[in-house]
Amino acid sequence: MFMNGIQQHAAVGYKYWSPAETMPHKEMKKLQLARLREQINYLWEKSPFYRQKWEESNFCPALLRTLDDINRIPILHKEEIRLSQEQDPPYGMMSVPGRGPFIRIGMTSGTTGEPVIIPFTEEDYFGVYCAGAARAVWAAGIRKEDVVHAAFGFTPFLGLAAAYDCCEHLIGSLVIPGGIWSSLMRLTMIRKLGITVLMGTPTYLLHLAKVAEENGIDARTLGIKTILTAGEPGKMSIPNTGVRLEEAWGARIFDYCGTQETHYLAWLCDENVGHINEDLAYCEVLDPETDEPVPPGESGKLVVTDLISKTHPCIRFETGDLVKGIEAGATCACGRTLSVMKGFMGRVGDIIKIRGVCVSVAGIENVIRGISECSDSYEYIASKTEGGMDKITVRVEPKYDVDSGQWDDLRKKIAQKLQLSFMVNMDVELLAPGTLPVYELKAKRFRDNRPPITDTGEVSTKAAEKATARV
Ligand SMILES: [Zn+2]
Repeated sequence: MFMNGIQQHAAVGYKYWSPAETMPHKEMKKLQLARLREQINYLWEKSPFYRQKWEESNFCPALLRTLDDINRIPILHKEEIRLSQEQDPPYGMMSVPGRGPFIRIGMTSGTTGEPVIIPFTEEDYFGVYCAGAARAVWAAGIRKEDVVHAAFGFTPFLGLAAAYDCCEHLIGSLVIPGGIWSSLMRLTMIRKLGITVLMGTPTYLLHLAKVAEENGIDARTLGIKTILTAGEPGKMSIPNTGVRLEEAWGARIFDYCGTQETHYLAWLCDENVGHINEDLAYCEVLDPETDEPVPPGESGKLVVTDLISKTHPCIRFETGDLVKGIEAGATCACGRTLSVMKGFMGRVGDIIKIRGVCVSVAGIENVIRGISECSDSYEYIASKTEGGMDKITVRVEPKYDVDSGQWDDLRKKIAQKLQLSFMVNMDVELLAPGTLPVYELKAKRFRDNRPPITDTGEVSTKAAEKATARV
């Protein structure tokens, strides 16, 4: 079945979910340009929001002759969406006038302000959002015969829920929710119901394996074959998180990422390469300061254009994520030709530059999870020294079985590895196991305790007090 030109179901025994996955690169570029033009013309006609935004920037569809002309279109910021929803509740510009009926809404987590609400018609949800997820699920080897457990609470955060819906409605697996189950209940049910696939955030699934260990259960004996993670940077972005999950569960680890406003953007194949759904979403990597494209393969901020959805298409949406880079034009050993996402570095606000070096969640987590004595819990805090220099303190919990007599050596070891990785000295504090919070969705690892700078360049005492009070 085809919907919006997207294949819904892979034939039985077929290696790829969609023919787009192996499309020659040149053909893909042509398809992207055709879809981009169609999308822009459609919004010019149907969306007063975009018409006004583009006219104010002197952009009109006739200016779009090549894919590179996309940079003539103004960037869309999350704040604009939020403002439009305040002025025209509940959906604002996230619904092109006349679209509906809606069968589902998505909602951003609201970590950077009021949540944005995203409505889906059946066509946009199953035909686009879930179809994009289906490629990730299929590439992870999840099939009809699998028993899939959603190890997360159901909320309007769709990142994991759409993969679940995809297993239920597109793949046809037996799917088992369990939002309010305790970790122990989940472990019992995994065994009892013959669950073979777990979906969840890397942080929670590592925690679940730890609960198993504390209760004398070896998670590797529970029969989990495949783990699919999302919601925060996983194996694609932090290889050592993948290693830990694999060791804890004895399963194959897959990971996908995206934004709720746009699509399932990228997912791991069995060659451990992140492929981008580039026929559905056009990704640009831009210099965060100049908004100019970075050279191919280099890091920068991710800007995404939805080429397909008709209800809430985001055009040149600034995701707020920094990525390690995108590489195009090669064929992966798995046979796919889709461009490659090298991984996410974290949210723009979670990355700080200290003495010229970018320190990101992904970078710190990769170091911590590469040290066997460290548990999975950590956080890092930016603050100022008495002399006014930026400093970073990394707080880590050792594993329960690490004797406190070994803590000082461990602290030095962590500091040394961080120094080697970032070429910057960081303070390391060890905390008693169980001190830091456990997160099911979207772990908050970074706090910025540096006092804000006023327009005159001076530190505002009131703002500094407020910043401290927030913590
Ligand atoms: Zn591949």
